[in-house]
This record gives sequence, structure tokens and C-alpha cells, in this order.
Amino acid sequence: MTPAAPDRTGLHARHQAVLPSWLTLYYDRPIELTHGEGRYVWDSEGNRYLDFFGGILTTMTAHALPEVTRAISKQAARIIHTSTLYLSRPMVELAERVAALSGIPDARVFFTTSGTEANDAALLLATTYRRSNQILAMRNSYHGRSFPAIAVTGNQSWSPTSFSPLQTLYVHGGVRTRGPYAALNDRDYIAACVADLEDMLQQTAGGVAALIAEPIQGVGGVTVPPDGLYAAFRDVLTRHGILWISDEVQTGWGRTGDHFWGWQAHADNGPPDLLTFAKGIGNGMSIGGVVARAEVMNSLTANSISTFGGSPVTMAAGLANLNYLLEHDLQGNARRVGGLLIERLRAVAAGLDAVREVRGRGLMIGVELVRPGTDVPAPETATLVVEAARERGLLVGKGGRSGASLRIAPPMTLTVGEAEEGADILSAALSAALGPSAALA
Ligand code: PMP
Repeated sequence: MTPAAPDRTGLHARHQAVLPSWLTLYYDRPIELTHGEGRYVWDSEGNRYLDFFGGILTTMTAHALPEVTRAISKQAARIIHTSTLYLSRPMVELAERVAALSGIPDARVFFTTSGTEANDAALLLATTYRRSNQILAMRNSYHGRSFPAIAVTGNQSWSPTSFSPLQTLYVHGGVRTRGPYAALNDRDYIAACVADLEDMLQQTAGGVAALIAEPIQGVGGVTVPPDGLYAAFRDVLTRHGILWISDEVQTGWGRTGDHFWGWQAHADNGPPDLLTFAKGIGNGMSIGGVVARAEVMNSLTANSISTFGGSPVTMAAGLANLNYLLEHDLQGNARRVGGLLIERLRAVAAGLDAVREVRGRGLMIGVELVRPGTDVPAPETATLVVEAARERGLLVGKGGRSGASLRIAPPMTLTVGEAEEGADILSAALSAALGPSAALA
């Protein structure tokens, strides 16, 4: 694509001079995105990219979707901020819609400005309701950047501190194809994880407050547990009175194709007690939130407020975005086009022994890279592939315990043609990054 150009604006140098060192940028020559349309974005040098990461699964419907930008500008022209001290029509309307969609009976919704803050609220509710600070979380999980969210984040590379307001017990099960139970079939895998959970609970003094889990671990590299794992966990939790928090920050709103919420791949024995969401619902406007049944939501005995949570402009955007999603059956599109994309990527990977696994569901896909012929994660290869894809006009993400998985999660309006274009570019990027020796003999 473009030859390596000097950082003409000096923006990268200014970024490094004034922003934290741990706020990492993708690419050797970081990109400044200046505008977008549909599934495409453009950088400040005029290059166009097919966007397969959607600003980390956040541009849910499309870039510059007229329905959403119109709703934002109409609301902004009326009033931008009121605070939650006053009645807000868009907030009540979006809460009604989310409550009805959540599957949680007698649901109440609290809006925040991020996924982290949503999980903080869920942990506050669960620990208050259960009068315990003991939390079960999954190994390799990611739940956010605050003190309590880090305390339930099992993924080492996103855990900058081990100090914690919680006592966290990490449970097996989120990573299907690695770890001690990887060789088992699905049924035995679930049975082993349940036995481990039961054993841990027997050895734990006091009542555990909640299990927090992502139905599919996104930051963890799009790891998909067997369907039914969390239903089996749920039976154990119910016996102990332990709450189940489903972190749907990445898996919500139909992205996984088969289901509207990730938890629905698991539970035929009812919804979670609490559900958290963020990212996609605002299509880039900062909306997060937690849903819980009234008894749990109302268990706080002091006031609690998020000044920006549920602000009118974000709520208007969320409503317009949700309407578009439902009216255009984007869940069905994620199932159809995502299914095709996964198949295409599996076909590409079938000839490459540096690809250990192509996994995922709907438009949430992971490609795990290893040193050829081994099970050893290859983050250096992932970096090369991400660069090679960029050079060919495709943006993808990275994740996994050691950063060796590609993450693919385009806006949910992705067309078949765009899926094919992306798969072709990724195929070329893999060939370029792996070199001629990559193909299996
Ligand atoms: N939960 C999950 C599952 C996430 O993927 C993320 C963000 N990657 C968060 C919580 C935190 O969301 P935010 O960055 O909006 O605070």
C-alpha cells in the first residue's frame, strides 16, 4: 500500500510525550483514523481500510450510520446534559428496551459510561446483596481497568496490580483448547470444570457472592467454551445461593449470531442474575450498564450516581442504534455472514501449520497463531500478520494470553462481498508474514 512515510504531523511523537507509556498503539507506524463510512475507515494519509475490529467491537452497526448521527445531532441541539437528578425520556426508553431484551425478570437497568464501570456496579451490587467480597472469575478473563475490575481479570497482561478489594477465586473452563482439561470431549470437559468448581467451593470459607464470566472471552483471544458450561455452573451456583454475572460487553446484541446474548448459548435453566453491557450499544457513544432483578439492583442502601451515565445524547444514539440493529436483523446477518467468514478463514488456515485454531461465533472470530508444528503461542507472528493486513488495507485486532491471537469483529452490517474481501486480504497477509515455508507439505 503506502510506502513508509515519516510521521509528518509529529502526532506519534506528541502522543508519546504526553500520554502514558502503557497506552499502547497498534502498528510500527501508528494510524490516525480521520473518518469512516459503513465498514470502511480512512487515515490521515488518505488510505482506506476495511475495518474488521470496529474500534474494539464498538462500532456495532456501521461507521457514520445516518440514523445514529442524526439522533445524536438532534439531541445535542436540544440539550446535551441534564444529570440523572432530572427525568430523562431517552434514558427511561432505552432502559425499558434493554430490560425487556435482557430476559431477566423484574429487571432494573443502571447506565454507566463504560464496560469497566458497568462491571464495577455489578460487583458492588453482588457483594452488597450477598454480604461477601468473594468472587469467582474465569482464568484468562478481562473485565476492565478499574481496581475491582482488574481484581477479577485473570489475563495477566491486563492485570497491572495484584492489590484487590475482592477475594477472587479463578475457575477453569473459559479456554477450551488449552489447559489440563483440553483433551477431554465437551461433556467430560464440562463435568471436570463443574467438579473443580464444587471442590473449590467446599474448600472456601464463607459464602461466595458471585461468578463473573464472559460467555466468550474476547480480550482473551475469542475463546469459546462448550455450549452448556455456564448452565452447568449455574446449577452449582444456585445450590450455594451464588449470583451469576454475565459480562456481555463483547458478546451482547446478537454479535455471536446464534443468540442475542452470549449467555443464551448456555442456559436453558434461566438468565443470569446480572448482565453487563457496553461497547456496541452506543456505536461509539459511551454507554455501559448493568441489568439486575429489582431485589438485587435495589439492595444498595446509600445513594449511588454516575454523573455522565445515561446522558441524553448517548441514550438517543443507543436507541437509534438498537432500532437499526433490530429492524435490520443484524443478529441474523452476523450469523450468516459470520458463518461464511469463519468457513473462509478455516479454509485459509487449513494449509498453514502456524495457525493452531480458527474459532468463534457469528462476527466474533479468533485466529490463534503458533510456532509452526508446535503448540507454542507466536505473538511475533501475530504482530507481523496485523502489520501485513494493514499494508493491504485491512484492520484486525490482537488478543489472547500472550497476544498470539488475531481478533476479528467487524460492524454487524458486514456484507458477503466485504467478508470475502477481508478473508482474501487476511490470506495474503498470512502468506506474506509466514513466508514461503509456511504451507504444509
Ligand atoms: N468487559 C469486557 C468483556 C471487555 O471486553 C471490556 C473492554 N475490552 C470491558 C469489560 C471494559 O470495557 P471498557 O473498556 O468500556 O471499560
